Amino acid sequence: MNQSSRPRDVAIIGGGVIGCSIAWRLGQAGLRVIVLERNRIGREASHAAGGILAPLAEADSDDDFFKLSVASLALYADFASELHEVTGIDLEYRTEGIIYLALSDEDELEMERRWQWQKSAGLNVKRLDPDCVRKLEPLANPALRWALQFPDDHQVNNRRLMSALAAAAQKTGVEFWTSTEVRHLLIEEDSNERRVAGVSTDRGKLRARFVIIAAGSWSSLLTDETGQRLVSFQVEPVRGQMISFEMPAPPIRHVIYSRKGYLIPRLSGILIAGSTTECAGYDKSVTAGGIASIIAHATEIVPGIKDLAIVETWAGLRPRAPDDWPVLGLDPQIRGLLYATGHYRNGILLAPITAKTISELVIRGESSVNLVPFSITRFAHHSGAG
Ligand code: FAD
Repeated sequence: MNQSSRPRDVAIIGGGVIGCSIAWRLGQAGLRVIVLERNRIGREASHAAGGILAPLAEADSDDDFFKLSVASLALYADFASELHEVTGIDLEYRTEGIIYLALSDEDELEMERRWQWQKSAGLNVKRLDPDCVRKLEPLANPALRWALQFPDDHQVNNRRLMSALAAAAQKTGVEFWTSTEVRHLLIEEDSNERRVAGVSTDRGKLRARFVIIAAGSWSSLLTDETGQRLVSFQVEPVRGQMISFEMPAPPIRHVIYSRKGYLIPRLSGILIAGSTTECAGYDKSVTAGGIASIIAHATEIVPGIKDLAIVETWAGLRPRAPDDWPVLGLDPQIRGLLYATGHYRNGILLAPITAKTISELVIRGESSVNLVPFSITRFAHHSGAG
């Protein structure tokens, strides 16, 4: 143990939106928190994302995941304004809602079903005829058949969110060690219990009472000192490519979806088009095929996109657990070890509720939200080191 490294209350592995949100809340509670990040803060999935906050637009049932997503969105306005107040960074949290276009028979079938269940569940979803859509978004494809409007789905500028989270956490005293890779977790055992004791990094060992795995797509690669994997479920990287364009005047105002893609207007005059869903390992290449498919789907939504200048292309890795749901909560066998990973397509949306629930678990030992559906116990063999 490096003598200069005093014990921390909490070590968080991963400085993405999940690790930084939790760090901020724990820092506010007065805990000694350190975030360990292999690269720079917020440069992986959390940088690549679109920032759509959409519990409704893609939901087909009122399940536990839907409820968690709605609960997180309900926290967002306060989350964004608190961060703005503390850091001066405007997150561009926007509430215009989402318009979802039906362009084909298959679209109509799927959207009709979604409309029916959401309407009967009393959710705020509206059906729009083409004239109505054209009034809201004059540049939308004139061949559209009808659309659904989800006024309660929102968006945030995720890159600004990352800057604000890092700044806010730092103000509470959270330490950030960047360019620092966690090599493995330190696990101690005595006769009747196993508990986490800290982490070993390429800058030395650190002791901590709690360790939180928030390492996104790399979460299941973490091991104990013997080299044995700690997380037996697989968090798989799922590549998503994106393009941004210079937006024309008059600008697009809403996030616009089709079944194959989406467009996200930013206040800066940038329009983002996404995305692909690819299993390509840890390869973050932007490919010709990926770009071609995004452009094809984007021009189906707004045909005029073909004339726009491309500003940037990029790709990121969505962390996907085997059942697509996030993995949240305490390890039932290793005291002090917590999971906050597997947020797949919704980590920006789920950041506020993840920060709230995981920090409650650290501080009080219990969460105000039922996390059982998201526990690692749902996977048959939950602790590989056991
Ligand atoms: P990450 O942001 O990937 O952060 C994990 C961090 O852990 C990384 O910085 C990594 O370097 C670090 N790390 C890993 N291993 C180690 C180690 N051993 N030691 C130290 N550090 C380590 N979500 C939405 O809600 N809305 C959207 O519109 C949306 N759009 C998306 C579009 C794309 C193209 C992609 C790729 C994702 C999108 N997502 C969206 C999903 C969202 O980006 C992710 O769910 C979220 O960013 C996950 O956050 P994270 O902090 O878990 O992971």
